[in-house]
Amino acid sequence: MTPDDRTGRTDTVIAVDLGATNLRVGLVNETGRIERLKVTTLPADLPDAETISDLIIRTIHSLASDEEIGMSAGIGIGSAGPIDSTHTSIVHPPNIPLDIIPLSDPISAAFNLPVLLINDCFAGLLGEACFGEGTGSKNFVYVTMSTGIGAGIIANGKILTGRSGNAGEIGHLFVDSDYNLTCGCGRKGHWEGYASGRFLPRFYHEWLKKNGWDSGDQQIHSARDVFDAIREEQGSEKCGFIHELGRLNGRGISDLIVAYEPDTIVFDGSVVLNNQDLIIPLIEQYADRYLPMPRLTVSSLSGFAPLLGSSVIARGYETRFGSLE
Ligand SMILES: [Zn+2]
Repeated sequence: MTPDDRTGRTDTVIAVDLGATNLRVGLVNETGRIERLKVTTLPADLPDAETISDLIIRTIHSLASDEEIGMSAGIGIGSAGPIDSTHTSIVHPPNIPLDIIPLSDPISAAFNLPVLLINDCFAGLLGEACFGEGTGSKNFVYVTMSTGIGAGIIANGKILTGRSGNAGEIGHLFVDSDYNLTCGCGRKGHWEGYASGRFLPRFYHEWLKKNGWDSGDQQIHSARDVFDAIREEQGSEKCGFIHELGRLNGRGISDLIVAYEPDTIVFDGSVVLNNQDLIIPLIEQYADRYLPMPRLTVSSLSGFAPLLGSSVIARGYETRFGSLE
């Protein structure tokens, strides 16, 4: 981290990935190398909005000296959204009972550095575009399946942001009318209400019920429990669930393919990263192929795509893929 003679700054930035359960903060250089990293588990209860910004500030202080922080080019934050239109706060987060969580202003004031904030799907998309499986592609979609389901889209070489920066909220694509399950947003039939980490256990229980099996004695509370149960049942009829899941995932991915005609779809997020053998081949099987199948691949950035994308944004909202402001 040698500072530039003219600017007095290094090529290193502070990148923040604020997820649903973990906070990751890294010092990242221009080539995408993570020089130092801190990972913290977020508290289960957030009594007030300051808790999050305070935790980020403390974690940055524990990662780097005041001198190193002062010489860095800026701070980029990728966060689970929604992000407000001025890119300063999280607003009405679906899983946190707070109306607004200001981030840019308190963190910028603490370090006297510019703080740039984007949603975590755009961050993941930029990470893949600059350092991962999207490198060199002008038409690719980044799909993350973890607590929720979301996407970022690069079409004809430019990031698709939409009217207010919410393009790519694909978890709310309609994929089912058989089970009629309610999504976290309150509407029915949305992809996220079935295949996200948060809702997979409920979908599994509903599928068991629909097929006449009693699921009462099974301890299935998480996506991991669901996939563990499926692996234990290899060869039995209960493996049929993975085909039902594949059918719905195939529906969602088919919609993405006809909407954006990508050459590559990059999957990320714990649900896929831990179970790609049970998810990707079934998507290949059930996608309806109105257009030719793009390359389906899993992120090679080991879960760090959003952190690396945050490092890109720390240098400014203007990117070679268009502006994210
Ligand atoms: Zn929804």
